[in-house]
Amino acid sequence: MIHPATNSAYQVDDLGFYGEFGGSYIPEMLYHNVEYLRKNYLNIIYEDQFQKEFKDLLKNYVGRPTPLYFAKRLSSHFGTNIWLKREDLNHTGAHKVNNTIGQILLAQRLGKKRIIAETGAGQHGVATATVCALKGIECIVYMGSVDIERQAPNVSRMKMLGAKVIPAESGSKTLKDATNEAIRDWINNPEDTHYIIGSVVGPHPYPDMVARFQSVISEEMKWQLKEQIGSENPDAIIACVGGGSNAAGAYYHYLDNENVRLVAVEAAGLGIHSGESAATSVLGTKGIIHGSRTLLMQTEDGQIIEPYSLSAGLDYPGIGPLHSHLIQTGRAEAISITDDEAMDAVFLCSRKEGIIPALETAHAIAALEKMIYKDSDHIVINLSGRGDKDLGTFIKYIADHEQD
Ligand SMILES: *Cc1c(COP(=O)(O)O)cnc(C)c1O
Repeated sequence: MIHPATNSAYQVDDLGFYGEFGGSYIPEMLYHNVEYLRKNYLNIIYEDQFQKEFKDLLKNYVGRPTPLYFAKRLSSHFGTNIWLKREDLNHTGAHKVNNTIGQILLAQRLGKKRIIAETGAGQHGVATATVCALKGIECIVYMGSVDIERQAPNVSRMKMLGAKVIPAESGSKTLKDATNEAIRDWINNPEDTHYIIGSVVGPHPYPDMVARFQSVISEEMKWQLKEQIGSENPDAIIACVGGGSNAAGAYYHYLDNENVRLVAVEAAGLGIHSGESAATSVLGTKGIIHGSRTLLMQTEDGQIIEPYSLSAGLDYPGIGPLHSHLIQTGRAEAISITDDEAMDAVFLCSRKEGIIPALETAHAIAALEKMIYKDSDHIVINLSGRGDKDLGTFIKYIADHEQD
């Protein structure tokens, strides 16, 4: 992990802002914890011993570096050069573990004895339960009861790993509600508990800290591209955005290189303007959610609009402050993909490459249908996770569509 220069237009500033987004809007009860984290996180994570243990676990436990694979049949299908950054091959099946490894090491150094986390698709819950088992630390995961139902295999995994899964029953009973419950828990247990947030969201320093842990993705991409195409720089990087952590990691070392197009893909659910969507960059306005100022879907009087996507990992009414800034400044292009378009991309990738992607990831693949590019371009898709957890959803989709 390289400690990047801070004089970048796209890195967080000293106050925790990306342009006008970010900051730390938290209840008084959490001030001490978050402030302590803010003052110390950079010193802790760039300390030699920390870096040594972090890199060792990423290599020997997670299985990094993940391959950068030239997808030959997808490339000829789309008429360009497509590279897949295989985060699906990480231990636990997605990019999330890069961050939970980093945060568990941090929690140990902070002397915390209890870990809480929120989860949507269950991937972050599994990644958190995994590192808690690895380190022998108590783990409590909050999960919306709707997500508990549609992501049953991941719930079983968390239980196998010794975590306690607590259902969130408020609101849409999905990720946003699980996050509220986790924050409530932290307020009640500020001394012994560390909250492992699963994306580049939440109060400063979380968005920056999570982006740094995930930045290993683009750090590897640079030398892998150099090795395979002779240049560190692709023409474009495409990633799906729920909160935005896999995208932040894939963009990180290219943020200031304006020759590299950054493409952020959101879930349009049943259609951007259908009322059943999670396309925050189109529908969102400025507001505060879960401790940071960012774009979010809300009514005129500030009530959160319930998001919808078939994919649990993209079903969130906001995006991280970095992404709000990247989109507002035009540094990143936002593309929205519906459930049906994503499902088509699941089958396309499965049958062209023998890789079953997560439903979230399929949104990034589908974005190629809506982009303009050259046949000589090199385009990296961040393959954020594998589709095993979504098999039930895929099979049900096929059955429903056979009846039509
Ligand atoms: C959680 C998840 C996402 C969305 O989270 P980000 O923080 O936006 O990356 C995307 N893909 C997969 C496979 C996930 O598990």
